[in-house]
Amino acid sequence: MAEHELTCIGCPLGCALRVETDDTGAVVRVTGNTCKRGEDYGRREVTCPTRTVTSTVRVAGGKEPVVPVRTRTDIPKDRIFACMEAVRQAHIAAPVSIGDVVLHNVCGTGVDVIASKAVPARE
Ligand code: SF4
Repeated sequence: MAEHELTCIGCPLGCALRVETDDTGAVVRVTGNTCKRGEDYGRREVTCPTRTVTSTVRVAGGKEPVVPVRTRTDIPKDRIFACMEAVRQAHIAAPVSIGDVVLHNVCGTGVDVIASKAVPARE
């Protein structure tokens, strides 16, 4: 039996969570959460932590030099640095639309990196 104390990042309230796990690492109980999102976060954070990655990618021929990007969904926390490196090396040609895929299946996570802003081409 082990106890993990976490702060929920689901909203600005930042509830103090306590997650109890058994000897196999399985979650037995989550307490301290105010809503179901907190319970889900506590279970996931202890067994398979994930995060959405946000960054910027260089734009060739655009009215702006970079475009904000994010992973379409969360990726495993232990893949974040590899993902950031792939994003750092990436570039995209203008024009860019919101939702355009910048990187397919980034680092084998099964998740795409997409543009979160439009960047028109330079005239
Ligand atoms: S448990 Fe719910 S209310 Fe508390 S911080 Fe997490 S999301 Fe917000």
